Amino acid sequence: MNFSSRTPTVTIFEEMSALARAHDAINLGQGFPDTDGPIEVRRAAADALIEGPNQYPPMRGLPVLRAAVAAHYGRVHGLDAAPDDVLVTSGATEALAAAILALVRPGDEVVLISPMYDAYLPLVQQAGGIPRFIRLAPPAWRLTQEDIDAAIGPATRLVILNNPLNPAARVFDREELLALAQACVRHDVIAISDEVWEHLVFDGRSHIPLIALPGMRDRTVKIGSAGKIFSMTGWKVGFVLAAPDLLAAVAGAHQFLTFTTPPALQAGVAFGLGLPNAHFEQMRGDYGRSRNVLARALSEEGFALLPSEGTYFLCLDLAASGIDEGDREFCLRMVREAGVAMIPLSPFYADDPVRSVVRLCFAKAEATLTEAARRLGRAA
Ligand code: PMP
Ligand code: GLN
Repeated sequence: MNFSSRTPTVTIFEEMSALARAHDAINLGQGFPDTDGPIEVRRAAADALIEGPNQYPPMRGLPVLRAAVAAHYGRVHGLDAAPDDVLVTSGATEALAAAILALVRPGDEVVLISPMYDAYLPLVQQAGGIPRFIRLAPPAWRLTQEDIDAAIGPATRLVILNNPLNPAARVFDREELLALAQACVRHDVIAISDEVWEHLVFDGRSHIPLIALPGMRDRTVKIGSAGKIFSMTGWKVGFVLAAPDLLAAVAGAHQFLTFTTPPALQAGVAFGLGLPNAHFEQMRGDYGRSRNVLARALSEEGFALLPSEGTYFLCLDLAASGIDEGDREFCLRMVREAGVAMIPLSPFYADDPVRSVVRLCFAKAEATLTEAARRLGRAA
């Protein structure tokens, strides 16, 4: 029998985490913090777990969480959102799958922006979509009007945006987002806007939700993730915000993917989303400082870095650092020789990959980050 899969069998994150374990390396590859999230959020989930109910929650999510998501987005982004515009999913990954499977019909063109998060292309292909790529390149990773006009046209059904952009750590500005929104309106295109990193933007930047731009309220599926908002990546609780008709289509796919998400985690997230703004500002400040620690330590070792405007990630520019190895080769050698795991960027492209950039996760203790930089400096 032939068990060959239509999708890659191991993601780059799994591959590098397995190598990190095998070599007992510091794992700055897969993006996850080395601390647990806020104790009060975990306690709210624990209380809900003990007190119940623990039976199937409603398919679209616990009413208390749907209301909390709408209120949170109103408060932090100024969005006009109602509980009926919200669907709870089992992580942003499931939200992406539900949205893509619901909205892409065989033969539809789907515009993807590379470097692209690893789940997008396999899901689009499973839905029978025809991918069209916009290729962003370092050091600016800028989305231009020219790129947009070349990729989006009358045949386009859907565009998938990730902002802030993992793995490039780029935060798109208003001009870029407006250009994308105008193209969506002009060609009657739906947008999936994966904004799981919305709370992690640095240096006074603010996150601009695509759904807030002119003409986008009824054509955007906004995706968020409690795993990122509360630094607990194992909590697979995601949410979708979209206008009722669009949301109904996504919910239709969701009901046959997972149907629902564990109620205690939903209750914990509902509590957490109500934390004061100061909590989220503090988190941004803490991660910003971690980014600075890693950036300083790597610079002192002579590495050239690309700007990290958001996410948990900082990218090394290999060519500018005087390293002429490919990104994948460099990562494979460093996990063995330096005992530090990182993520190459080339797997985030379908063609013509950028091969001179690697991604490091700075959501770790200061001592871990400085030790990793020291090891890399010695081995590179
Ligand atoms: N989209 C992006 C851009 C991500 O970086 C991640 C995970 N870091 C996800 C989706 C998946 O989120 P979740 O763990 O909530 O499924
Ligand atoms: N989103 C995480 C990252 O970018 C990985 C999630 C996963 O392993 N699927 O590192």
